Amino acid sequence: MSDLKVNFAVHKTNSKLVASKFIFVTGGVTSSLGKGIISASLAKLLQARGFSVTIQKFDPYINIDPGTLNPYEHGECFVTDDGAETDLDLGHYERFLNIPTSQANNVTTGKIYNHVITQERQGAYLGKTVQVVPHITDEIKRRMLLLGQTGEFDVVITEIGGCVGDIESLPFIESVRQLRWELPPNDSLVIHLTLLPYLKAAGELKTKPTQHSVKALSEAGVNPDILVCRSEYPIPSEMRKKIALFCNVQVNSVIESLDAETIYDVPLLMKKEKLDERVIKKLKLTGGAQDPDLDSWKEFLGRLKNPTEEVTIGLIGKYVELPDAYKSIIEAFIHAGAQNECKVKLKTFHAELIDKETVASQLQNLDGILVAPGFGQRGFEGKIQTICYARENNIPFFGICLGMQAAAIEFARNVLNIKDATSTEMEPEAKNPVIDMMADQKEITQMGGTMRLGSYTCELKKGSKAFSAYGKNKITERHRHRYEFNNKYLQAFEENGMIASGINPETGLVEVIELQNHPWFVAAQYHPELKSTVQNPHPLFVKFIKAAIQYTKTKKNSLVL
Ligand code: GLN
Repeated sequence: MSDLKVNFAVHKTNSKLVASKFIFVTGGVTSSLGKGIISASLAKLLQARGFSVTIQKFDPYINIDPGTLNPYEHGECFVTDDGAETDLDLGHYERFLNIPTSQANNVTTGKIYNHVITQERQGAYLGKTVQVVPHITDEIKRRMLLLGQTGEFDVVITEIGGCVGDIESLPFIESVRQLRWELPPNDSLVIHLTLLPYLKAAGELKTKPTQHSVKALSEAGVNPDILVCRSEYPIPSEMRKKIALFCNVQVNSVIESLDAETIYDVPLLMKKEKLDERVIKKLKLTGGAQDPDLDSWKEFLGRLKNPTEEVTIGLIGKYVELPDAYKSIIEAFIHAGAQNECKVKLKTFHAELIDKETVASQLQNLDGILVAPGFGQRGFEGKIQTICYARENNIPFFGICLGMQAAAIEFARNVLNIKDATSTEMEPEAKNPVIDMMADQKEITQMGGTMRLGSYTCELKKGSKAFSAYGKNKITERHRHRYEFNNKYLQAFEENGMIASGINPETGLVEVIELQNHPWFVAAQYHPELKSTVQNPHPLFVKFIKAAIQYTKTKKNSLVL
């Protein structure tokens, strides 16, 4: 019932219940135009002027969250501190803004319907027909305003997934339409992202798809205030005028978004186009700095674009055909590379195609090897062969989640000589389950949201490589897994040089393992990549790249000798 009360409050938005300003970002013409990056870049510019900003993503699909989706379907599943399995755009928001997101920052159609149907069963709408309008749209609006009601944010940016005109996104667009009237004037703004395709044969950019897309949005009752037009070429001023004329926006609200060398250039490109100024003016935002302070951002870009070193890192996984499946890892390498003023060339390898015979020839020119997270048997033996090669040849190695579990299994098989060592994920009846399911996981029958998820504390051993990376002994990191290192084997591991350098102080679960007689062999049960940002590159990635630089230098020196 309390939820309905909030819904009622939504209709009273004029009475100062909402403190924030709201920006809605929609997309048209095609998907993959980079709404997430534009939203994050605008948020960065506003943040750099002193405003507090958050971004939320509304996804039109019916899954409750992307946790049950195959990475091939939707890319990486990003996990928040509070254990939400979310869209990978939340990763961009965190990497740009350096502030954590939460459960509330990602809403799906599934979550909305689930809530409304549960309410209906509880009798919350007794006597009423439950309908898309107003019940579903009320729930969407409640969630759209929720973060604004915390009082924490001056601006809440809401990115609507999908394209205008999709059947699925209609209730979201309808909710935006309603909110535009319910919120006080100047408290909301719609930015529409479109594409200006370049037709080679005609030798020019075309505005028609943008016109149609804006028309579709207007037919749904929403008139955009600002158009951000993705384009491969600069948009001539005559064309900007034409777009403004046909799409009912001011000419200086037609913003050009050219393809960028790196996504981290986009805030500066948007500043050049004065996107932030237009937004501030239209929302009558007061109190911010005259100019965004982007000094540290520019320093980062300077280091990123002027490397003095270069390393080649192998990323071994099973979803390598789709780089989005490893988005946070790829971005963490960019941050750590810049920190080290080092160009990180990432080479991906399909774990399924690596075996004992080919491992050396495939991986021979690498300066560091990362074995990625993952699920299931496919490609697992290739990961084991990879790790054996890195361990025996003193190549810097970094294992994450399943990569850590594989490192433990490889060590058990090849150093401790437990030949049938494995994980119960691969072999439920394993005789030597070096990696095993936790007791509380065994009772679980529901798949969604039931892994060990979110932030947990870990204590690092003084003197370990992990400790030296973080420079402190108490850390928190995010998790997403069901299986764990089996402590029955820990003593044998440690006696033979593989130590548990990170332990969860409450449960005793092993969080980090590392080899003592190896230049840099560290593997974490958690996902360090999820906490790497432009401002705070992740210490383990930074140290891994340092070790890779050291490794190349030693390699070169030995060639000279
Ligand atoms: N499949 C492993 C588990 O569930 C590892 C998961 C992961 O790499 N995210 O424990």
